[in-house]
Amino acid sequence: MGDIKIVDVTLRDGEQTAGVVFANKEKIQIAKMLDELGVDQIEAGIPIMGGDEFEAVKAIAKLGLKADIIGWNRAVIKDIEASLKCGVNAVAISISTSDIHIQHKLKTTRERVLENMVKAVNFAKQEGVYISVNAEDASRTDMEFMVEFAKTAKAAGADRIRYCDTVGIMDPFKIMNTIAAIKKNVDIDIEMHTHNDFGMATANAIAGVLGGAEYVGATVNGLGERAGNAALEEVIMGLKHVLGKEISQDPKKLRELSYYVANASGRKLPTWKAIVGDNIFAHESGIHADGALKYPKTYEVFEPSEVGLERKIVIGKHSGTAAIIKNLQDKGYEIDHDVAEIVLSKVRTAAIELKRTLNDRELIYIYNECLRENGLLKREA
Ligand code: MN
Repeated sequence: MGDIKIVDVTLRDGEQTAGVVFANKEKIQIAKMLDELGVDQIEAGIPIMGGDEFEAVKAIAKLGLKADIIGWNRAVIKDIEASLKCGVNAVAISISTSDIHIQHKLKTTRERVLENMVKAVNFAKQEGVYISVNAEDASRTDMEFMVEFAKTAKAAGADRIRYCDTVGIMDPFKIMNTIAAIKKNVDIDIEMHTHNDFGMATANAIAGVLGGAEYVGATVNGLGERAGNAALEEVIMGLKHVLGKEISQDPKKLRELSYYVANASGRKLPTWKAIVGDNIFAHESGIHADGALKYPKTYEVFEPSEVGLERKIVIGKHSGTAAIIKNLQDKGYEIDHDVAEIVLSKVRTAAIELKRTLNDRELIYIYNECLRENGLLKREA
């Protein structure tokens, strides 16, 4: 067991990305891959929607995965009944806690929010499933009410609170202090659920852990509404390498999962995507490539193989001679420093003209051209 439990919500919140729909077969495949990765809980969908959504959750619950399977619900009995019909062993019961949501969306009162939450939790509790009570818009909720809500949920039988930064308005310091304050007042597990509207979703999730949260929710590739959610791959590797926590996931599975979800969602991964992007272990600039070639830890925190990637020394405008020599020697070519200098200047000219890096064939072509021009060629290649 890892120190912190991971809750994947790709199949529910991730699919709520505008314009994204997973086929049921894809949902099942993603659930299997998440289970192989080793996440602790998988939120599979919203059973009350019925139709394919209901069938997908039911099929995932039947797979017999190691992870708990969560059905997502409003704090409404018929929602929970639909989840239970799917055979899930966990339910998320969601209700807004901020006044802005209570007054303008639910058009009700704090008292009614507590009442409906308790009714829903009591109902689920009889069925013996794991219960997460989701405080929607928790980050804009009055602190006193937040504590009262958490205490009431615990008394009703909830196993944890999901603290939702629904609009992504928090900063890591505020999150850490807020979670610590809730934990001080109520002895209940907390799951962080953070959105990326200001680019701080992963940082806020990690900050929640520093504040005492036991669970972190995330989506593969940070998929989700608007700017998305905390990214699963960032959270897992952040817990391991930034916080130094024990993790029970196998990060080698991350890259394949990321690409599967990128394809299934039709949302291409940027090359610079943290942890799993194509360029995460690509070095071009002379100083970086030289360092990474001599001792990878100079510019890499962990080995690329840890996440199923490979180190790449890219030849381009910013390359230095060390990378040119290494690249050509690896291909069996003889090259000394003087020739490497000549090759490098031609590489720079070509890279600027083409506005891109050079491929292996282009580098070899330039190398041969240099030998020819300088009368160094032993025989025509
Ligand atoms: Mn969300």
